[in-house]
Amino acid sequence: MNEQSSHFHLINNSVMKKNWFLIPAAIITIISCKTTTSVQKEPLENLLPVRGFCIAAPTSRNLDSFVTFINQELAPRQVNTLILRVDFNYQYESRPELRDTVALSKEDIKKIVAACKTNKIRVIPQVNLLGHQSWASHTNMLLVKYPQFDETPWVVMPAKYKWPNDDGLYCKSYCPLHPDVHSVIFPLIDEICEVFETDAFHAGMDEVFYLGEDKCPRCGGKNKAELFANEVKAIRDHLASSKRELWIWGDRLIDGKTTGIGMWEGSHNNTHTAVDMIPKDVVICDWHYERADKTPVYFAMKGLRVITCPWRNPSIAVVQMNDMIKFRKESTKEMKPYFYGMMQTVWSGSSQFLKGYYTDKKDTTNGGNTQWGSFRGLYKEINKL
Ligand SMILES: [Zn+2]
Repeated sequence: MNEQSSHFHLINNSVMKKNWFLIPAAIITIISCKTTTSVQKEPLENLLPVRGFCIAAPTSRNLDSFVTFINQELAPRQVNTLILRVDFNYQYESRPELRDTVALSKEDIKKIVAACKTNKIRVIPQVNLLGHQSWASHTNMLLVKYPQFDETPWVVMPAKYKWPNDDGLYCKSYCPLHPDVHSVIFPLIDEICEVFETDAFHAGMDEVFYLGEDKCPRCGGKNKAELFANEVKAIRDHLASSKRELWIWGDRLIDGKTTGIGMWEGSHNNTHTAVDMIPKDVVICDWHYERADKTPVYFAMKGLRVITCPWRNPSIAVVQMNDMIKFRKESTKEMKPYFYGMMQTVWSGSSQFLKGYYTDKKDTTNGGNTQWGSFRGLYKEINKL
């Protein structure tokens, strides 16, 4: 019955369209002239609201060259969002024990803040929460100082890290159900947001492989998607109490098995149903580096704002950008705002990136693709829009 009535509408539509041919040619000419003269370039804000760049925060030593990069390279390209991965590279006063040995001072950060203000760039600090509490054989400050938060204390950090390994150790996680963990990390979030004078915080939360471990006395046997979603919600609620919003990476919310997207850019550890449990005002940074996966549609249909994040392949980055623009153009007015924009990601240290960028260093190992090549290529196309 429904099918029949929809066919009926189609017929009616085609009749309607045919009737257009009955309009005198002169009127059509007037209409088309008017259309031609009224075509205007759509403002960049409408095409891509977020035009981002994500990189590790610089060290004090290369701070000035990084500020120059903001002024001379990010600003002219109309980058309007800068995610800085700070982690423990700040001289925290609330938790001084968590400072890295070498860490940025408040004055250092204020130089970045000033440059971003001048150039109307929204700066968002990142501290990795939940996962990424270690890297290779190095344990990060949180678990060094608070080993009781370790989700897998029985996994000994190897002297020489290799992947894969018998422990399935990619990075350590903290236990989200440890009763003291939030009282340690929440002051850090507040302090870093205050010093950056920002209304948003990026919590990372990508590639969380250790979660809800059977041997954890608090998490064992619990639903992993719920554990993940509850941690997102706890951080989100804390930020919301000071009118700040939460940004996270999207991989734990994608079903890596069904989609074939895999265990890195997607989840193989049953966290993906958290997509229906997290608050709808969390911003999703959806990273795909080898293919222009159409996952932005999935997030947008869940009512979540999504930003597509490329890495080092400029041609994929441009396809992803055109997809994002197309998704916005061809969506309902309800869904359009969820397609939020693009963000170039950089996964080396910032000094290494700047060196590569300014010398346009070649890399023969990845088919000639580089992070700086992707940044230039993507923004060249964005600036043509
Ligand atoms: Zn636990």
